[in-house]
Amino acid sequence: MTANSEAYIRLGESIDQIGHRLTGSENGAKAEQYVYDLLKSYGFSDVSFQPFEVNGWIREEMNLKVLTPSGQESAVKAVALALTPAVAELEGLLVDMGNGLEEDYLAAPEVVKGKIVFAALNLLPGSPEGTRNIHRSAKVSLAIQYGAKGIILFNSVAGGTLLTGTASIDGTILPIPAVAIGLEDGMALKEQLKGEELAAQIYMRNKTGKFTARNVIARIEGSELPEETIVVGGHLDSWDLSPGAVDNGLGSFSVIDMARTFIALGLKPKRSVEFVLFMGEEQGLLGSRAYVQHAAEKGSLDRIRFMLNFDMTNDPKSFTSTLEGSRQLFESLSETVMQVDTNFQNRFAARAGLYSDHQPFMLEGIPTGGAGGGRLSREALNCYHADCDVFSLVNDLEMRNTVRFGAMLAFGLANAPHIPVVRLTDQQVKQLMLDNNLEEALRIGGDWRW
Ligand SMILES: [Zn+2]
Repeated sequence: MTANSEAYIRLGESIDQIGHRLTGSENGAKAEQYVYDLLKSYGFSDVSFQPFEVNGWIREEMNLKVLTPSGQESAVKAVALALTPAVAELEGLLVDMGNGLEEDYLAAPEVVKGKIVFAALNLLPGSPEGTRNIHRSAKVSLAIQYGAKGIILFNSVAGGTLLTGTASIDGTILPIPAVAIGLEDGMALKEQLKGEELAAQIYMRNKTGKFTARNVIARIEGSELPEETIVVGGHLDSWDLSPGAVDNGLGSFSVIDMARTFIALGLKPKRSVEFVLFMGEEQGLLGSRAYVQHAAEKGSLDRIRFMLNFDMTNDPKSFTSTLEGSRQLFESLSETVMQVDTNFQNRFAARAGLYSDHQPFMLEGIPTGGAGGGRLSREALNCYHADCDVFSLVNDLEMRNTVRFGAMLAFGLANAPHIPVVRLTDQQVKQLMLDNNLEEALRIGGDWRW
């Protein structure tokens, strides 16, 4: 299976032909079609699009200038964060708000009114012990709440790297511009602000509106329990500053190659398997929410026996699941893998986390899991959501391991005589979230329903 994997080749080819895969953009639609055609070419008879509507956002133009009191202007390399306004043209005094946390505002609640907040995206060195950082969208939300007319965030990755991501906590278009600049420019500005009053000028144009995106689904009908489904998913969409080779070309093209493997080996599992390439993950898990909503409307949620998610999964070393009850099954599948690869380990841990496409399934009580324990290079991690997430960060051999171990897990679940965990009740889901300390994060994201 290692020898035959073509995940790496197809990812490289798609990056050459298409580039980034931003949801709702022309590139995004091309990527959806590319994957549909590829799955068809592998011999799948059942490949379909699952369309859904999104608050689309596509960057157009952006300029940032810093002005001194004596009238000197300097341009700063900057990018708009996603879901910023379609049109913004404004000037305002800059206020250094440190980490941009609630405590920074509480110390001086009036100081940013009508001004532009300048803050660090990651915690500044020397921040008090125990300080907890918050998501960029929460920082933007605080700036709005305290009356700022704009916000500039700088990251902590050396070398002028620019990072993007959504700045909107609820997926709606923001009322103020939010922009990101690099570490060196940020630190220089921070120094300059100690000595003098500075203003910033922000100009931006973005395309916004309701756009359609499409999940791509390839289905293999189960031989004995066709009504039961194992979903094997990963998000195909990326941000637009780079081709998103690692996030999530790595995971999505691994899922596509797992699908190819099933067909190539003529696997006929007991249960049905749906390989799902989600769009809209980066804008707030929109594709997986749409998939789950669709299943809820059809009354088929109970029939999804497991959801496996592959998001930046690289060279995994063990299998994981949200539920302790799946330990035995997962450990026995690990044993099988260890017989073909001695690097694989049996380190099952039942854990629940958020912020990827398993989340909407998990919140409906569906058992979720995947493969983990592998490593990504420091370079790859630094390029998360950045302009440097390029194909050279992907390692062919490590990606082959994602494909073969992922395929073995998917087949193992689809073909298991018995799956020991079933869909949780609403109260059991609540307890799982509490046990994993996820209440606050779910509340912030608007997903806490209890
Ligand atoms: Zn991702």
